[in-house]
Amino acid sequence: MKLILATRNQGKVRELTNMLCGEAGSKQQIEVISLESYPDAPEVVEDGNTYMENAIKKASVIAEYTSHLTLADDAGLEVDALDGAPGINSKRWAGEDATDDIRIAKLLQALEGATNRRARFIAAIAVVHPNSEPKGVLGVCEGHIRCDPAGESGFGYDPVFVPDGYNQTFAELGEEIKNRISHRAKALEQAIALLGPYTL
Ligand code: IMP
Repeated sequence: MKLILATRNQGKVRELTNMLCGEAGSKQQIEVISLESYPDAPEVVEDGNTYMENAIKKASVIAEYTSHLTLADDAGLEVDALDGAPGINSKRWAGEDATDDIRIAKLLQALEGATNRRARFIAAIAVVHPNSEPKGVLGVCEGHIRCDPAGESGFGYDPVFVPDGYNQTFAELGEEIKNRISHRAKALEQAIALLGPYTL
């Protein structure tokens, strides 16, 4: 079965592919194809009010374009001391063309002096088959924001996010551990169950 990943974020493609082809997904015969194989696929504007709306929109547009079963995710970081920001705007919060370093610098500046550094990553994953209703699941990973970046692995806010139960950031823990405990891993575990009917 072909499964299209509706994202151009290489960090996400790597994580989702490893998780789908690893232990969690190995029982199902899934051929994972990223949008790199569809260079002319439409850009999807992420203008939904929720992670789920955006994930369903991305998966629906790409499923229609490719005529294949499609999986999309939309994720964000919610920081308590910032009233849930950057949240659904996690990508654009520091400007349209901001790099991960700029996003992290803005986050650390906004939290300067804050004693409450609780935060969580949230991921919505949508699975859309061209001929059926979209299905969606959510995953959450609780943690806190460090005062300075640490680690090289992963992407986005990984160098400043320390998941509960660990003393290191996602970027220090590395992909193997992140892919077991992250928001995306928790959502994907449920999403794999949604793929079942299409793999028979
Ligand atoms: P998107 O809209 O789902 O592509 O993600 C929004 C932004 O959230 C990304 O550009 C990252 O900055 C951040 N983000 C989402 N997931 C993760 C993650 O697993 N680690 C670190 N940052 C993430």
